[in-house]
Amino acid sequence: MITAEGVTVRYGRTVALDAADLIAHTGTTFGLIGPNGSGKSTLLRSILGAVRRAGGRVEIDGQPVDGLTARQRAQRLAVVAQEEPSGLPLTAWDSVLLGRSPRLSGWSRYRAVDEAAASDAMTRAGVDHLAHRHVDELSGGERQRVLIARALAQEATHLLLDEPTNHLDVRYQHDILSLVHGLPLTTIVVLHDLNLAARYCDELMLLDAGNVAARGTPHDVLVPETLEPVYGIDMRRIDLDGVPQLVFRPR
Ligand code: ADP
Ligand code: MG
Repeated sequence: MITAEGVTVRYGRTVALDAADLIAHTGTTFGLIGPNGSGKSTLLRSILGAVRRAGGRVEIDGQPVDGLTARQRAQRLAVVAQEEPSGLPLTAWDSVLLGRSPRLSGWSRYRAVDEAAASDAMTRAGVDHLAHRHVDELSGGERQRVLIARALAQEATHLLLDEPTNHLDVRYQHDILSLVHGLPLTTIVVLHDLNLAARYCDELMLLDAGNVAARGTPHDVLVPETLEPVYGIDMRRIDLDGVPQLVFRPR
């Protein structure tokens, strides 16, 4: 479980997040939505401890993140950040194996158990066949799945993803999120696409200029009256297989 209470982050005079609260329950997929610049990445980074909070607390399974060492944090939290070309001549296999480093003691070598975990993670993410390819030569979708494999190899209990479906074609967008949603992990995912959020998140939180504008189930949050003033676009909601979906009409 991840809890954030009253998290406030400032960049100079900009208040990027203003006392945001969040509870992501164990084993669920929690979606962060909101327009560009509304504070989604900042909230994710403050959960990671990668940005200085001006106020508030973040706990993972009841433990304050501030009290965890980088290594302890990496054992609990895996991260799939926005596209990160490594610039290193890493193969997909190397990259996934790197996910095991928080499990090694000191400078010890990878063990059989690490290779088994990496191999299993690649199978689950559907990237076995990419093992020998260089990550910088993969397509955006392939690279994203390798990053997810690395997060799985890490065997953390919590997963944070920032717009993991960017640059993916529609089929892969659904593949990736269906994979993520099916994992027995506590997941927080930043999503631009409200229709993907509707389908794959158990709970949603809508951010608007650093403030929480709505939270609840997709059914409760994805309401045109709530979203229209935040995004500045008109929309209509339809239900597809019981999942709310939105179609948009510019003003
Ligand atoms: P989102 O992920 O929702 O698009 P961000 O969390 O990246 O939004 O940004 C929230 C606000 O904080 C924006 O106004 C953005 O310009 C600002 N911001 C984000 N990162 C920085 C930074 N490193 N320095 C200064 N301002 C930043
Ligand atoms: Mg962002």
